[in-house]
Amino acid sequence: MTSVGLLVERFGPILRLSHDRPERRNAQSAAFLDALNGALDAAAADLAVRVVILAGTGDHFCAGHDLKDADTMQPQGTPETRDMFEAQRYRDYCLRLWDMPKPVIAQVQGACVGGGFMVANMCDLIVAAEDTFFADPVVGTAAVAASEVLVHPWVMGLRRAKEFLYGGGRVSATEALAMGMVNRVVPKEDLAAASLALAERIAQSSPFALRLMKRSLNRTAEIQGFRAAIDAHFDTHQLSHMGADAQERLAAGAAGIVGRGRGQTG
Ligand code: ZN
Repeated sequence: MTSVGLLVERFGPILRLSHDRPERRNAQSAAFLDALNGALDAAAADLAVRVVILAGTGDHFCAGHDLKDADTMQPQGTPETRDMFEAQRYRDYCLRLWDMPKPVIAQVQGACVGGGFMVANMCDLIVAAEDTFFADPVVGTAAVAASEVLVHPWVMGLRRAKEFLYGGGRVSATEALAMGMVNRVVPKEDLAAASLALAERIAQSSPFALRLMKRSLNRTAEIQGFRAAIDAHFDTHQLSHMGADAQERLAAGAAGIVGRGRGQTG
């Protein structure tokens, strides 16, 4: 399936789902996100799939949401349509990743930005190529409060997340490793093999034990308020879209927003 830019590959018990629109730095269209979510639903129900890898072809994992996609931008016209669109495509689809009953490994390289940062960080594990950089510049570019899913403080720590989001800077793979945001950093040429090797090792474990282990680990975060915080930020994010600066940037169009940053929206 490549028409929406989703590449689906099987390696025995491992399913690899890849962003596959490298000419657009794997920016996520609405149709891509629908296809990815459908593939995750199918993988959840398929007992032969034991581990999922979420990857990206080409030089970049994902540069964020696709500002040139009409299906993404049209709902931005009113608060009502934006809330519906972003609740489904961004919040609910991210929570679908979080709730997958089997381990999901993000395999990232190059840009892991905005919407790409969100989906990678909703995965259980992250394997990063040395050239990976993480960013969420939308406070500065689109004048909205971060991306829709505020996973950042959970994976970076509160103080680092504040600097990252206030200033719109980048975090390198090495820095991400030091802060515990990624599990390992490997040379780019070894990225696919390292991710598959990790997936194969996990696939040896009992699927039921893995499912319950993941449920228990996720509940540990949820008892600390993970899910409520994700929901609360989503609503705050919607409010931020209605700010005067955000409306002005949106009216300037994709070029106005992209011109300020790195090609993705909030
Ligand atoms: Zn938004």
